[in-house]
Amino acid sequence: MVQQAHKHELVEVNGSCVDKTRSTYWFEDATLSLHIEDTRFRIHYSLISRHSPLFRMLATSEGEQTVVLVVVEGSGVIAGDHLSLTVKEPVLASDLDALLGHIYDQDQLMETSGFPRVASILRVSSRKQLDFPEIHAASRCRMEELIPAKPLMLNPETHPLYEALEIANRYEFPQIRKAILYMLVTIHHFEYEEMNSDHSVGTSSAPDTQPDETAAPPAISPSSDDSSLSSRDRKICADLLNRLISHFTPTLYTPATGSHMGCTDRFADMWMPCVIQPSFEDDGVYKPLETLEKIKGINWVKEGICEACAEEKRQEWTEEQDKVWVKLDEWIPSTGGLVT
Ligand SMILES: [Zn+2]
Repeated sequence: MVQQAHKHELVEVNGSCVDKTRSTYWFEDATLSLHIEDTRFRIHYSLISRHSPLFRMLATSEGEQTVVLVVVEGSGVIAGDHLSLTVKEPVLASDLDALLGHIYDQDQLMETSGFPRVASILRVSSRKQLDFPEIHAASRCRMEELIPAKPLMLNPETHPLYEALEIANRYEFPQIRKAILYMLVTIHHFEYEEMNSDHSVGTSSAPDTQPDETAAPPAISPSSDDSSLSSRDRKICADLLNRLISHFTPTLYTPATGSHMGCTDRFADMWMPCVIQPSFEDDGVYKPLETLEKIKGINWVKEGICEACAEEKRQEWTEEQDKVWVKLDEWIPSTGGLVT
């Protein structure tokens, strides 16, 4: 189906008529008219086709041509006096605006563009949309600079987690996706439904310092503040929460042991006030990376542990962080087949 021809809407600005359906990218000396949503672009075919195999495939004539974007699977067809450009995903005019800004104005995609602009260029330059491979690759690199793939470096106040997760799901950034899903589990306040009140985990009642490893992990029901997540991602987060708790509970509730009897005794004495008690206050049981970072940050020598044991344990806790990070690859299903 071909979009209907757009009405030209003329408005008066500073005494002259301006067509408000025209994009900023409207060049009188250009020959390619492109209609996307309610916006019309008039751009230089030779410049655009240099960047995009999709545009190179258009059967072109020397003269002016109008191209209407059609979203279907398949190849381009000629409809009436318009060429139709066929794409697999809807294209936003604002995204094309950002892309043309990059092409025409040489704005510095690599260095200064923020997330919304990079996301626009990433989408519109993808193969599912207008297919600008080199620009797409550059926008991927910039995206990886903008959104750290390490959860301890992600900040929910400065990184747009939900929008970035959508991009990561759709355009295959597995490491960014993993970091964001982990972060969402730790900030989302999923609720516990305790299966067994004798084995409460992460609540205000004090558990045994020796965990009962046979206890069923608490079942999770997502709370109401996760509406920005797809139902699939909600399920992944809920599942991840259970796995993180099951994995981390023994480490958290079992006092560390030192190489010396005295150090082991001291760890046993100090584990509850230094580690377990604080973990109740910030739900540390399902935040292994953060909790281990805090445990590493405790001045254990001051708490009576010898230098050698304190250093050895710090290394072990770092290894445990790495182990959790690797485990997440098993626990998070891939996006394969998610996006069509
Ligand atoms: Zn020691």
